[in-house]
Amino acid sequence: MAESVFKENLFEGKKVFITGGATGMGLGFAQAFLNHGAKVFVASRKEDKLEEAAKLTKEKFGKELIWKTMDVRNNETVEEVVDFIKSEWGGLDILINNAAGNFVAPVASMSENAWRAVVDIVLDGTFRVSKACYPLLRKAEGASIVNIIANYAWNAAPFVGHSGAAKAGVLNLTRTLALEWANDNIRVNALCPGVVLTENVKRNLMLDENTAKTFEDYIPVGGITDSEKMAQQVLYLCSPAADVITGDMLIADGGQWLVGNAFYQMGKKIFDE
Ligand code: NAP
Repeated sequence: MAESVFKENLFEGKKVFITGGATGMGLGFAQAFLNHGAKVFVASRKEDKLEEAAKLTKEKFGKELIWKTMDVRNNETVEEVVDFIKSEWGGLDILINNAAGNFVAPVASMSENAWRAVVDIVLDGTFRVSKACYPLLRKAEGASIVNIIANYAWNAAPFVGHSGAAKAGVLNLTRTLALEWANDNIRVNALCPGVVLTENVKRNLMLDENTAKTFEDYIPVGGITDSEKMAQQVLYLCSPAADVITGDMLIADGGQWLVGNAFYQMGKKIFDE
């Protein structure tokens, strides 16, 4: 793991819940918080992935990753997990809404089920989990929520229209909750990652090491990045250094969005042929 710029005990005693934290970036966030003293709970649908993540984390860092299965589309499972956190920990300081689903398809050929599935996970899921965690977060001495969005949330999301619309909704919800929960001392921000070649992105967005190079032309600094680098951004947003930041989004994409949407170029090539 790359060396962290943050103090090792920065999150000592803090309790962190990460949705979709068994794979990709979510696991990177989980391990980064654990390595800075926090207790970390992750939840997603697939038990084997959760088990594997906990095992790997134990082997690699000697730390315990607590987990439970949960589907953010199912309020009952969300409530069960939050009750479990309450009984295990009695409180919660940090929530990372990271769970997402996505795949490439033009809107004209997208089924209503496909649209609903992505919106249900990304937008409705963020609402459900945030609402369920609110009673715990408001009791913390300064809590933080980070919602993971994408850099097509505020302009256009060609070929990932369901995800774009859902992430745009999450950005708006981020700002709404920042105001509604300010008196509870809960900060709510969004992180907009750069291109991170996680297994999911390779599979669902049809990217591999070669095709991803297309993105390099659209990334002014830093190139294709990784989960560890994104974890550093999340740590910052949840750290005391950011205690004047709420309702904001941190765009950590190396300036990609300023240059152009690489998804558009790639998708056009695929769907025009
Ligand atoms: P990932 O590994 O697939 O992470 C998504 C996680 O969400 C998985 O662990 C998945 O686990 C979980 N999940 C999916 N549906 C769920 C549901 N209904 N209930 C609970 N958990 C669910 O992908 P990633 O690339 O690390 O993405 C992480 C976040 O970054 C996402 O919000 C994504 O939109 C965002 N992002 C990624 C990139 C990138 O380049 N990678 C760029 C911009 C933004 P299960 O399938 O086991 O449930």
